[in-house]
Amino acid sequence: MIFIGIDDTDSNKGMCTTYIAALLYEKLSKRYDVIEARLIRLNPNIPYKTRGNAAICLVLDNGCLNYVKDVTLEIVKRYSRIEDINTNPGIVIYEGDDIPKDFVDFYYKALREVVEISYAEFLLKKHNVLYYKIKNGRGIIGALAAIGADLRNKTFELIAYRKEENWGKPRKIDRKSVIMMDKKTFPFTFNNYDYENDRVLITPHTPCPILYGIRGVNPEILKLASEMIISYEEIERIMIYKTNQATDSHYLEISRIKDIKPYSSVKIRLKIIDNPKIIQGGHIIVKATDGYDVIYLAAYEPTKSFRKIIKELRANDEIIAYGSVKSYPNTINLEKIEILKLNRYKLENPRCPICNKKMESIGRGKGYRCRKCKTFSKEKVPVLIDRRIEEKVYQVPPSAMRHLSKPIILDII
Ligand SMILES: [Zn+2]
Repeated sequence: MIFIGIDDTDSNKGMCTTYIAALLYEKLSKRYDVIEARLIRLNPNIPYKTRGNAAICLVLDNGCLNYVKDVTLEIVKRYSRIEDINTNPGIVIYEGDDIPKDFVDFYYKALREVVEISYAEFLLKKHNVLYYKIKNGRGIIGALAAIGADLRNKTFELIAYRKEENWGKPRKIDRKSVIMMDKKTFPFTFNNYDYENDRVLITPHTPCPILYGIRGVNPEILKLASEMIISYEEIERIMIYKTNQATDSHYLEISRIKDIKPYSSVKIRLKIIDNPKIIQGGHIIVKATDGYDVIYLAAYEPTKSFRKIIKELRANDEIIAYGSVKSYPNTINLEKIEILKLNRYKLENPRCPICNKKMESIGRGKGYRCRKCKTFSKEKVPVLIDRRIEEKVYQVPPSAMRHLSKPIILDII
């Protein structure tokens, strides 16, 4: 088999690495059996990457390495946005039937941490693999990671591309047909439409060649879903990619706050230690601990209704937080929260057994007394509080969801 990994060919101003994959697929499939096209999302927290941070990989049953290399280089060179300072394409071509464990480990590193070009290059040389760097060649990181991708957990995405004359123009997709498609195929397709914010989610907002992308659990449902979409512009081509999107594979499960690395995504069990605060801009911040250290959890304004859930947290609630951190990892930007145990009680001064009025404190640690009846009680008493959230998993709405985040519904079907 031949694995072709490509990354970092696009820019925020246009193009899309998946389109280059589609062109390459067209060319190579005339001669060879292309058995898989992969769309691999990598660490979403890397600051210098385009928002989606996607790399691609085509897998051929067999082929002439020289021909594959020539065609790949030609297409990448022709279509990459190399005039953009942040676009640094990389190509990796690996021939073999088994993927080295080093590459799989590298994939997880590129998914969850920050990796250097030099480390990718070290591995490529170690395994004697063909690779090409254009400009600083940072794309070899994603290209190698896409080849090493562990897709035991996977979903699929169907991408419909626009004709070149329409690139940059408004996309003409019938909104009602998107809602209809969603109603008919959900949850086997997902994140098509955001009902909370009334937004079509299958169309991107960049000048790239993508008309729309539909995510789903298998290629068959995606083909059906795509046929339901009414488009007022011609579709140039359609590709279906196998992907690590919607798998939660970016989260690194850890037990201590001190082990959180910069620019990573984590899953960590915590206890809330303070009531949430609303800060300027409508963001919600709440303090939590692992029993040793303290960290802030944030539900920012774009997470919309999710903030209402976070606002309801109270001290001593036990949760699992899922989210990402920036350069200085003192705040987890929440993507999902599992509430394990709600604190349903608060401690109050006891009531007088005779007159039922609340007793007063005599002094710190000395107990409580009813001023009128002179009754005495030593301890505060637990009182049931009304909680408006439940012990379950809550997630940000689709419009705020990361490509890699798994919609809760996928755990149910
Ligand atoms: Zn009393």
